[in-house]
Amino acid sequence: MGADLVEQFATRVATGLEHHLQDTVDLVERTPQRHFKLHLHEGHSIEARAVIMATGVRAQRLFVDGESEFFLRGLSYSAISHAPLFAGRDVAIIAGGDRAVAAARILAPLANHIYYIIARPQRIGDLEAAEETLSDPKISVFRGWEMQQVVGDAFVTGIDLVGISGEVRHVPVDGVFVQFGLLPNNGAVRNLVQLDADGHIIVDENCATSTPGLFAAGDVTTVCAEQFVVSLGEGAKAALAAWRYLAEPGA
Ligand SMILES: Cc1cc2nc3c(=O)[nH]c(=O)nc-3n(C[C@H](O)[C@H](O)[C@H](O)COP(=O)(O)OP(=O)(O)OC[C@H]3O[C@@H](n4cnc5c(N)ncnc54)[C@H](O)[C@@H]3O)c2cc1C
Repeated sequence: MGADLVEQFATRVATGLEHHLQDTVDLVERTPQRHFKLHLHEGHSIEARAVIMATGVRAQRLFVDGESEFFLRGLSYSAISHAPLFAGRDVAIIAGGDRAVAAARILAPLANHIYYIIARPQRIGDLEAAEETLSDPKISVFRGWEMQQVVGDAFVTGIDLVGISGEVRHVPVDGVFVQFGLLPNNGAVRNLVQLDADGHIIVDENCATSTPGLFAAGDVTTVCAEQFVVSLGEGAKAALAAWRYLAEPGA
């Protein structure tokens, strides 16, 4: 079971660590000696010669009725992770940017029918390719409709939409994919490293950021793949890179 595996990982990691602090890093600063000072939420700070940021992302939520209730009971924030669960089913995709178009591409070969709901249009890189994806007869596009609530019993059974003139419409679906952009948890180092347009920390192939000694791994970086196994591998790469950095003279 996943939970058992996580517990085994946690035990293994904890036994190899000299210090294990459970706290939130509010800010990472560069010291005059070119080390790092980490300000922890509980009030104290620690100094380090190298830092690896592996703080992940958080999904943008809709904040509508039923969203929390049906999370992982038909409602998902990640098509790449959960699309296969909806093979042959009717699903809704909520949002209107690149991430939603990518979700439509992932779901189109699997789902029975897709309702694509755009209330708030977002930035789209390749509009022509997006329109081509959405012209699939399996996809019904609802422009100008806003999600009002997710409804269901044990699992999602549908969504209620509200139109610009206030009319309400119920759409029966088995799954809801809320696909706004992801928000990388970059706050602690935002002023220290280069970020891409979406806020991911830019890293090279060795997980190095634009600041020497500061490494980053996983979904918070430009490598973001929303897959455990990718983040695990990136974490291992970052650890090796940090270890090599610390072995350099003067680090
Ligand atoms: C509901 C859900 C289902 C998923 N299902 C799958 C799946 O089936 N298969 C799959 O491969 N992937 C799945 N994913 C994606 C997978 O969880 C992520 O890709 C992976 O966990 C990313 O790992 P990470 O280490 O980069 O970040 P995370 O696992 O997100 O870890 C980041 C950690 O950093 C902590 N943190 C953040 N900011 C700070 C701070 N300032 N100070 C201290 N700590 C901080 C966070 O609390 C968190 O514990 C799913 C994700 C979600 C949300």
